[in-house]
Amino acid sequence: MQHLLMARLGAIRTDWTLDEVRALFALPFNDLLFNAQRVHRDHFAPNQVQISTLLSIKTGACPEDCAYCSQSVRYNTGLDREELMELERVLESARVAKANGATRFCMGAAYRSPKPKQLAAIKEMVRGVRAMGMETCVTAGMLTADQARELKDVGLDYYNHNLDTSEKHYAKIITTRTYQDRLDTLAAVRQAGINVCCGGILGMGETQQDRAELLHTLATLSEHPESVPINQLIQIAGTPLHGAAKLDSFEFVRTIAVARLLMPKSHVRLSAGRSEMSDEMQALCFMAGANSIFYGDKLLTTENPDENHDLELFRRLGIIAEAGPSEHEPLHEHRHVAHAHA
Ligand code: SF4
Repeated sequence: MQHLLMARLGAIRTDWTLDEVRALFALPFNDLLFNAQRVHRDHFAPNQVQISTLLSIKTGACPEDCAYCSQSVRYNTGLDREELMELERVLESARVAKANGATRFCMGAAYRSPKPKQLAAIKEMVRGVRAMGMETCVTAGMLTADQARELKDVGLDYYNHNLDTSEKHYAKIITTRTYQDRLDTLAAVRQAGINVCCGGILGMGETQQDRAELLHTLATLSEHPESVPINQLIQIAGTPLHGAAKLDSFEFVRTIAVARLLMPKSHVRLSAGRSEMSDEMQALCFMAGANSIFYGDKLLTTENPDENHDLELFRRLGIIAEAGPSEHEPLHEHRHVAHAHA
């Protein structure tokens, strides 16, 4: 199988078998990275990374019980709650993000699923950010087909809804919504014609088999998600996953490389957990095919590397920011981004 599998790398396929995914995980590290980088270069400019900025537009008091999350109402994490942000504050943050080189503005709301009034407010935000020439992304929990269509109608570019982990491991992480609920939302988003942003979190006590199953599920959706965020768990005191065993860094890089091989045209995003990664590990992730990051000093409610540090790392690696939908703009020198949320 190995020979056949290697010969087919680079093709866009949604018929991957779990055995194939496991075989990729089992490759020697250098073979895996070499192939991932080769496939990456077939589809992307090798030294460009897409920059997104994430703003928490409604923080905390979420009724769900995701075992990693500081925003669940069930855990005492000391997080300050914030109601849905006013439109003007959101647009101001988007302006600053754009001035700092972000081409996509992601708005995260801690909801199980948005109520009609909340959706109406989010739609105004999408309209406003799009009018600035930025791509828009929203994450606000489960969506019905009608809600997805409403968001499409105001021009939403991406909807984020992560699968988090394998279906098997999922029950140990979240009990308030099912894996199928998540797949249903992804299907509604896809059917509405919105780009799908969907990935997972590593380091939640899952096995390599779980990581393979997560990537297998993503890579066998009817179409690959356009964005695949791969997060490393940030352990937050008060959540059930605080104190979970740390994942081996090479295993994280390995997972990025397998994601790149399975979904050659998707942007694979280094997301949460970057602040705990060394520069060397981030460089390995870029080598493995990661080509998108969140930029800005806050990532929803957790720390993200300082923008100056990101600029310096990009300079040292010869990486430039991928151009946005409306213009070609280099990553600017740092200006302070005062994110409103905690
Ligand atoms: S991850 Fe999202 S849905 Fe889960 S508790 Fe946190 S905010 Fe709520």
